[in-house]
Parts: sequence; structure tokens; C-alpha cells
Amino acid sequence: MAYRKIAMERDKNVALVAHDNKKQELVEWAKYNRILLAHHRVYATGTTGRILEEELGFEVIKLQSGPLGGDQQIGARIVDGEIDFLIFFWDPLEPVPHDPDVKALLRMAVVWNIPIACNRSSADFMISSTLMDEEYDRLVPDYDGYRTREVVGRTRAHQALA
Ligand code: PGA
Repeated sequence: MAYRKIAMERDKNVALVAHDNKKQELVEWAKYNRILLAHHRVYATGTTGRILEEELGFEVIKLQSGPLGGDQQIGARIVDGEIDFLIFFWDPLEPVPHDPDVKALLRMAVVWNIPIACNRSSADFMISSTLMDEEYDRLVPDYDGYRTREVVGRTRAHQALA
């Protein structure tokens, strides 16, 4: 398979999200790793971001609250290459009203090959990686083959006219 490289800078765009039962755990994790996080740009869904900003004392770029579209905003920013790292402590024991958005966000992280941590130990391993403070070329499948695929009922001639 062909791949394309997407450059990740030394200072990364990190998104942090936690469901309500997981917010305290994320806050503890973020405070413990405050110095490691501080030089990155931190994005978060609304409520997570408000709490993190109070606790960390540096600016967090706050999007909408998750159930109001915040997860989708993060997903869209991943697609646009504006977010390149996701820590998402989702709650495995409680359904949430925006479960489809949660699934969609995790899917976008995989489609665009960005690092994701969904629990504290994964987040620990990721934040302590030396790659965290280096430039890194993320390999993303070359989706041109998908974009230019034959569509049932459409000939190449139709597609050329479109
Ligand atoms: P919140 O959203 O930070 O606004 O609570 C989190 C989520 O459920 O995605």
C-alpha cells in the first residue's frame, strides 16, 4: 500500500477529552504531566477544557461540550490536520447520548493514523515517548485510490464530465 507522510511538529496539537466519570482521572493525569504538556497546544471538549484550564493554569483551546458536538469538532480538526494526538478517557461502563460521535471520533483517529490513548496507562506510555518532543512523519494511507474508485452505475466518462 502507498502512504503519504504528514509531518508532526515538535510542539504538537493535543486533544484531551474525558467523560464525566473519567474527568477526575484525566485531571490527575494532566496535572502529573503538566510540564510535559505545557509546550504543546492543548485542545479539549468544553467541560473537560474548562476544568483542565482551572487545574493546569495554562490556556486550553475549548471546543463545544462533547454531547453538543465537541467530539465531532475534534474529529473534523483531525481530518484537517489540525489535531495530531488524542487522549480520550471514555467511560466503558456508561452509555452517553453521543455514543455515535464517540465512535466516529475514534474512527477518524484510526483513519488518519494519529496516536490515541483511551486509558491512563496508554497515556503514560505515549506522553513519556521520546517522539513526543521530536518531529515525526505520520504515515497515512494514500486514499487517492479510494477517492478515484469506480462507482456502481457511473462510468469513467460520467466521472470525467462531472
Ligand atoms: P465534555 O465532553 O468535556 O464537554 O464533558 C466530553 C465528551 O463527552 O465528549
